[in-house]
Amino acid sequence: MSEQTFTLYDLRVETIEGDRPFVCSHEVGSGFEVRGENIHMDAGKPFSLYALAALLPLLPPKQRPLNEFDWMATDHVIACPDPHCGARFRISRIGRQVVRRDDTTVEPLPENNPWKE
Ligand SMILES: [Zn+2]
Repeated sequence: MSEQTFTLYDLRVETIEGDRPFVCSHEVGSGFEVRGENIHMDAGKPFSLYALAALLPLLPPKQRPLNEFDWMATDHVIACPDPHCGARFRISRIGRQVVRRDDTTVEPLPENNPWKE
């Protein structure tokens, strides 16, 4: 059997300035990296719980290869969820990993997988 692998991108989320002042305690340049299933926060730098909650749903899709016409492949700047806050968060790909399926799940691969592209 050939090795079952897939691609995951490593991500960097960084706080950037928007068109208005910050309301929250964001720091320009602070953020975190996502590698596999793990988040690595910048050492000693706080990151807003509410901003993190807004960003979390976007991270797993952005870790995966995307169709070039998918908005997820083109829209990388996310607003702070506080509507009065000018902070923005830029999501960048900073690396690429080839991951072995066996390292991520014990679920057997189905024969006719309806999720397959
Ligand atoms: Zn904010």
